[in-house]
Amino acid sequence: MELFSEGIAQTLESILENKEVREAYKKKVLLSYPKQTLISITFNIPGSIKTNPQIERVFQLAITAFARYCRDNELKLIDTTCKLLATGPEYYAVIDSTREDIKNICIQFESFYQIGRLMDIDVYRLNAEEELVIIDRDQLDRTPRKCFICSNSAKACTRNKTHSIAELRQKINEMCQTI
Ligand SMILES: [Zn+2]
Repeated sequence: MELFSEGIAQTLESILENKEVREAYKKKVLLSYPKQTLISITFNIPGSIKTNPQIERVFQLAITAFARYCRDNELKLIDTTCKLLATGPEYYAVIDSTREDIKNICIQFESFYQIGRLMDIDVYRLNAEEELVIIDRDQLDRTPRKCFICSNSAKACTRNKTHSIAELRQKINEMCQTI
């Protein structure tokens, strides 16, 4: 399987625009479920090609594995949406739970499953002012996420452009062969 053999390159503008749309969408969903928690999943895909049928297929497998993992950990997904967009696939799930360990379960999934290392799993709630608040790893006093190539901090590798897009794509292809 070659994940990046086709696809439409996205402009920075369309990626940034999508980011705004995503923020508004997450807030809208949580306003319908103000007491619940929202999970958002996207793929961390380097380069300007963000999707194609192969990437969408891998994404569907990834969210199926994630949903199963949630069930195994007794997290009930009550409202799920999958959007297959040109800027990349997106998945949203409202969790009927006020448990504090939801983010931990997501972090475990990200690190335990090979495919999890490609996934950006974010957890959101509304605060008392009805603003969207992200629950991040730092608040949980966890070590920062590791780069899937060299195991340094993922943030540092992204910032320093340590790995070329070709190298990242090759690694992602390798990771996806095993699912
Ligand atoms: Zn690295």
